[in-house]
Amino acid sequence: MIEDYYTPNLPEEVLADREERDCRGQGQALIGSLLKGVLDRGIPLHRESRARRLITEGRRIVGVETEEESKILRIRARKGVIIATGGFEWNTKLVNSFLRGPMTGPVSVPECEGDGLLMAMEVGASLGNMGKSWWLQSSQELAAHGRGHANYLIGNSERTRPRSILVNREAKRFVNEATNYNAIGPVLHNFDANTHDYVNLPFWIIVDQTYVEKYRFFNATTKGVVPPWAITADTIEELGERIGIDGVQLAKTVSTFNADVAAGHDTEFGRGDSTYDQFWGDKDFEGVYRTLGPIDTAPFYAVKMESGVLGTCGGPRTNAKGQVIDWDDTPIQGLYICSNAMSSPTAGVYGGAGGTLGPGMTFGFIAGRHAAQHG
Ligand SMILES: Cc1cc2nc3c(=O)[nH]c(=O)nc-3n(C[C@H](O)[C@H](O)[C@H](O)COP(=O)(O)OP(=O)(O)OC[C@H]3O[C@@H](n4cnc5c(N)ncnc54)[C@H](O)[C@@H]3O)c2cc1C
Repeated sequence: MIEDYYTPNLPEEVLADREERDCRGQGQALIGSLLKGVLDRGIPLHRESRARRLITEGRRIVGVETEEESKILRIRARKGVIIATGGFEWNTKLVNSFLRGPMTGPVSVPECEGDGLLMAMEVGASLGNMGKSWWLQSSQELAAHGRGHANYLIGNSERTRPRSILVNREAKRFVNEATNYNAIGPVLHNFDANTHDYVNLPFWIIVDQTYVEKYRFFNATTKGVVPPWAITADTIEELGERIGIDGVQLAKTVSTFNADVAAGHDTEFGRGDSTYDQFWGDKDFEGVYRTLGPIDTAPFYAVKMESGVLGTCGGPRTNAKGQVIDWDDTPIQGLYICSNAMSSPTAGVYGGAGGTLGPGMTFGFIAGRHAAQHG
């Protein structure tokens, strides 16, 4: 049953009660229980320590050097070092060197600068899947992240609900908005050989007043409120002009979409045809109408979106035990890697819910067990 898993549609009073009791779910619940396991075993945590270098003895990794405040700590690892420093999406140099196309809106923590990748490269790790990422569409919030970085918000259910479309610089739709976010990433890298430019960038989400009254929009805490960086207009044409695209074309795009909605089939991109598309929509409706709805109530809103990522998923290659391998496929003794820091075991293919956390935790477990037994 879709409803069983679709928490955003829980009654307001249930959500309020959970908030009142400070219940934690999703990522916080997951990481909280793992943290408890660490604390229960008396393992010391260094929360402000930045790993920078691997310590070697011959070809073997025997420890890690970290920076903590102004001190350098050298930590000996009896069994092995497991790199779990996330992706490299906040390191502009690495992003520009490796990713397959523009990436302008990472939603992870800004500490994901690829330190683990750099450390492993230094000791001869071979690399895989370096052009790939867990692609995701985000929007830049006006407030900054920690350490002066811009903050990007996930725009996931925003684009899958009824009464919303994505449009490109030509004021045209370019994708099934309700398909999985990872698959939309490469569509944002479509390249026009004549103009030598990315045809779908920049892009915007367009919604109407009924949408914002019914759904929370980005960081709005209340329904009916739009984020301060949303652009508003009384007509679709005017909205197009305000965001710097062809307003007449935008009106045509919306009119074609609305006609498809009325007929119950998205003739351009088949939005709503799959169970996946409908899962992410609005369960107050049935079938394709979980994700298809007309954009017909003024005022209208546009929010600029970014070609973002949850995290990159290329990095040092491993064997099935989570050991980092060199170009000859020989394990670098004492060195393991997992999750977004490693070369993705699914080659960046998103298998559905938990598509990043599932493989990440599995390989973290495999690496930890191998290090404990054989390190
Ligand atoms: C809002 C949001 C929702 C998501 N929802 C889902 C979902 O539903 N399902 C799913 O599968 N995935 C989801 N993801 C993606 C998933 O959270 C990430 O892919 C996953 O957390 C990656 O795990 P990781 O351990 O590789 O990296 P991270 O969780 O990013 O952890 C890396 C850690 O390493 C630290 N670090 C970095 N460099 C150093 C260094 N040099 N020394 C010490 N520490 C360092 C960072 O501070 C960070 O704490 C979501 C992500 C976000 C942001």
